[in-house]
Amino acid sequence: MPLRRLLTRLLLAICIPLILVSTTLLPVLHVHMESRLDSLRAEAKILLNVGQETLTRDINESLTYALAIAEMPELRRYLASQDRAALIDQHNSLSDLSQLSTFLNTLISHNPRYTKLVLIDNQGSEVLRAPKSNETGPRVNGTHHAYTDYFQEAASLLPRDLYISPPGRNLQFELFGNEVIPVVNVSTPIFDATGARRGVVLLSLNWSYLTSALRQAMLLEQSANTLLIDAQGRWLLDEGIPPLNTTSFGSDFATLAPDYWQAMQQRNAGHATVDNHLLRFQTEDIRTQRYRSLSGSIFSENAYYPWKLGVSLPRPTWRSLIEEETTVLWFLLLTYGVAVAFGIFWAFSSQRQRELRQAAQRHAHEVSDLYENAPCGYHSLDTTGRVIKMNRTELTWLGYSDEEVIGHVTYRELITPETRDHFDKAFENVKNNQPGSAECSLLTRNGEQRHVMIKASAFYRDGQFVHTRATVFDLTERKQLEEKLRAQAMTDPLTGVFNRRYLQTQATTEMSRARRENNPIALIAIDIDHFKHINDEYGHDVGDDVLTSFTKIVADLLRQEDLLCRVGGEEFAILLPNTSLSHAEQVAERIRSTVAATPINASEERSEKMLWLTVSLGVTAILTNEKGLKPALKRADIGLYQAKENGRNQVVVNAG
Ligand code: GH3
Ligand code: MG
Ligand code: MG
Repeated sequence: MPLRRLLTRLLLAICIPLILVSTTLLPVLHVHMESRLDSLRAEAKILLNVGQETLTRDINESLTYALAIAEMPELRRYLASQDRAALIDQHNSLSDLSQLSTFLNTLISHNPRYTKLVLIDNQGSEVLRAPKSNETGPRVNGTHHAYTDYFQEAASLLPRDLYISPPGRNLQFELFGNEVIPVVNVSTPIFDATGARRGVVLLSLNWSYLTSALRQAMLLEQSANTLLIDAQGRWLLDEGIPPLNTTSFGSDFATLAPDYWQAMQQRNAGHATVDNHLLRFQTEDIRTQRYRSLSGSIFSENAYYPWKLGVSLPRPTWRSLIEEETTVLWFLLLTYGVAVAFGIFWAFSSQRQRELRQAAQRHAHEVSDLYENAPCGYHSLDTTGRVIKMNRTELTWLGYSDEEVIGHVTYRELITPETRDHFDKAFENVKNNQPGSAECSLLTRNGEQRHVMIKASAFYRDGQFVHTRATVFDLTERKQLEEKLRAQAMTDPLTGVFNRRYLQTQATTEMSRARRENNPIALIAIDIDHFKHINDEYGHDVGDDVLTSFTKIVADLLRQEDLLCRVGGEEFAILLPNTSLSHAEQVAERIRSTVAATPINASEERSEKMLWLTVSLGVTAILTNEKGLKPALKRADIGLYQAKENGRNQVVVNAG
């Protein structure tokens, strides 16, 4: 059970810090993550702005280029000369064309943004092309443009208006260098000085070059991906983004990356999280937004515009956050480690405290048990002597319950009136730190007395008297033992009458009293006649019984104050206070006659025999001026001896 409790505590010690640390640190990490996301969003916005600026700038420059070419005086003049060939000097016209061709060739060849420049007359026939060598391409008819979108659209435009074809749509791919690349055709009408329509300028833009410039500009962040999609959901960049399956220009982005397309279609601009990437995008319409410096309008096929320009950046993950923020990780581990260490310390120390508490409780219980059931009584009294504590032993002696005594009884009331003064005197100074002890008698509930020894002392705490406390020893048994020993010391164990020592002690007392009161005092010595015979004939045990029976017969003939003592084997003495010698002689005679007349039952195995005894007695008076009993005993013995001499069974008085 304690092991289970320890394991539970250890589990708590690990889990609680984990929860506390997590609940504290997670919001911090969350804020950290949010701020990283914010900076990522800001980064995406900057990248998008850079991309937009680049794209706009490049396209606007191209448009300006196309317009500038359309408005070149040499070009206008040459085209006008074609209509009025007869009126103009043929030589001049050819010279203009040659110069123009050289100039435009140089212009286009040196700018990789353009793939070709074509001047087309009002009939759709090609008048001039730069670069000159670029005669091949996927077009069916390289010199007749009458049915092309750029010619047809531009042919109906006003001055300074422009037509832009969707990038790489239909056959607008060209062989540029060694590769086929998508192009954007920009065309604008040419008017002469009189306002007459003279033809169309076609400027084909290298779309790959433009978009790679865009991507270069937006490659400020290595992990950033640029997105450019037209209104049809077509991928407009040369290279795709591998995770989006957009492999090349013209891929159906809407189908290949539906999540992205859906997020981008919902709004004109904004950001979204797709595939753990942050996507920021905005609508890009070059027809309406990017032509402020020019006075005309831009036309195109509405179905392909506007475009969506976007940038996608990988979102930071918790893992990447922790990997990058190793300080955070260490802080996290350190905090958790310290918290767990504290938890484990708490678990073990509380277990230890629990064990100590249990041990203390056990000890307290043992001490309490010892106090309550000690072989002596314990109690504590307040300053007025009222009982405030008493153990079970003393309560049992007194026969009260603790409710009856504690707080209600003054201990002095439990002392018998006879010993109360003694009690008061012994303990009058206990409160002044003078311990006391006294032998007193307690009055029990049923009126009995119990002799006790009380030892009391004062209990002080911080120098202040708190209460008196006492130990109470029961002296009843001791008293009884003392009584028994005293009785044993003065009686003869066989017959139960007093012994010689007691006779001598008591004789001294009686002699003093007799002297004081001037009363006579007498002594009788008795010896059983021929007692040896009884032993010899019936055995020693029968002899013992006879001795006992004999003392009973004699004791019955005596007064209360007379003292029958066994002074030898079958020799007895009787001290007779307040008795004259003649009266003592009468007593002796009565003993002699009664013994002689009383048969004694000597029980033998399976038979009963009645014995007859006789005794010889010597009688004397004890003189009050004598020193001790010895002289009187000697006189009585002489009388006794005389009686034996005279034939036994008789009394001889020896007055001395
Ligand atoms: P007498 O006094 O008449 O001269 O004769 P007696 O036989 O009594 O002689 P004596 O006094 O010499 O002998 C006393 C006997 O009492 C000796 C001893 O065996 C016996 N006796 C003494 N004490 C005890 C005793 O305690 N128990 C028993 N059974 N016999 C005892
Ligand atoms: Mg004898
Ligand atoms: Mg004898």
